[in-house]
Amino acid sequence: MTNLDKETLFTKIIKREIPSKVIYEDENYLAFLSINPFEKGHTLVIPKFPYTEIMQMPEDKYLELQKIVLKISKHFKKILNCGINIWQNNGKMAGQEVAHVHFHIIPRLENKYTYRLDNCVKYLRNEMENYKNKLKLN
Ligand code: AMP
Repeated sequence: MTNLDKETLFTKIIKREIPSKVIYEDENYLAFLSINPFEKGHTLVIPKFPYTEIMQMPEDKYLELQKIVLKISKHFKKILNCGINIWQNNGKMAGQEVAHVHFHIIPRLENKYTYRLDNCVKYLRNEMENYKNKLKLN
């Protein structure tokens, strides 16, 4: 079932109300080129379900989406013989601009790129251990 009632830029792309360069589509997922690419071929993979963040997704839908990300990544590797970054933002605090789940697949064609976050922070004394205790699952 596809519920596109919650409108975003990407639901408009799904409904073809705004144009995009689609590179993959099936009943539930769509992949298209980013309009503002980090590298030529930078692709966004989205579910046709309007989840905002992956944390809202049922596990089966998330895993289905991952299968599409993997399929496209393997295809890019074959076609471009490239390196690939997979990137995904959840929430404004994490830099998400479009409030519809999307994975970035970024082919890397040259050796120039080193991935790192711009600003690293340092833990204060004992803080790292405290975070470990706070965040551990079991
Ligand atoms: P994020 O910051 O993770 O929310 O990424 C949003 C992505 O959507 C960026 O890669 C943008 O370049 C891309 N984007 C925004 N508008 C469009 C559009 N009309 N067509 C294709 N990609 C878009």
